[in-house]
Amino acid sequence: MGRKFFVGGNWKCNGTSDEVKKIVTLLNEAEVPSEDDVEVVVSPPFVFLRMVKSLLRPDFSIAAQNCWVRKGGAFTGEVSAEMLVNLGIPWVILGHSERRLLLNESNEFVGDKVAYALSQGLKVIACVGETLEQRESGSTMAVVAVQTKAIAERVLNWSNIVLAYEPVWAIGTGKVATPAQAQEVHYELRKWLHENAGAEVAATTRIIYGGSVNGANCKELAAKPDVDGFLVGGASLKPEFIDIIKSST
Ligand code: PGA
Repeated sequence: MGRKFFVGGNWKCNGTSDEVKKIVTLLNEAEVPSEDDVEVVVSPPFVFLRMVKSLLRPDFSIAAQNCWVRKGGAFTGEVSAEMLVNLGIPWVILGHSERRLLLNESNEFVGDKVAYALSQGLKVIACVGETLEQRESGSTMAVVAVQTKAIAERVLNWSNIVLAYEPVWAIGTGKVATPAQAQEVHYELRKWLHENAGAEVAATTRIIYGGSVNGANCKELAAKPDVDGFLVGGASLKPEFIDIIKSST
């Protein structure tokens, strides 16, 4: 069974109501491959989830950018997995490096979030990736393995997880990983999954790349055997996102 190509658009903390409506119109009018071939998931800020859900074409899906680690309650400012389920939002991005680094989310905390979100029926885009310093010191694989292990220790069923490899040095910098660099880490991550979560998980889990993906570099990256799609930041707010959706075909 092939792994269906996956393209996520992470809008981060961007947009006004009018801008969001414009992006949704652009997406709705685009001619893209069938949902049998490419799975498209866009991730607006929490406050726009409802609006995007009501306007977005039905063959595209929606992710929140985060959720609370456990059941909701007295956690001011947080949004719980239950609330996302209640709103009809099927996906959530967890462990993005901006949250790991700026908000000090630890590997364990991210692992707990992934496990809780899955337990509530959400599907998870789980992000891992090394900093420039870690890459330069040769510890890329050790870093992403420890991040993935914190998830694997808490999760048995990987069928609702997409693993996003996002080198921190490539995010928002315009400095994309080369196709060979991405393929190398994706291959190693798949091998890690094989050894630690089993052959079936390794063969079926989609490993997507994120970090300065754009309309010009996506095709070459998509051609690599272990690159099963993308998580796109900046370019997901622009018309070239459509080219990225089409990059596997
Ligand atoms: P970028 O962001 O495409 O703007 O580099 C990717 C991400 O953070 O998911």
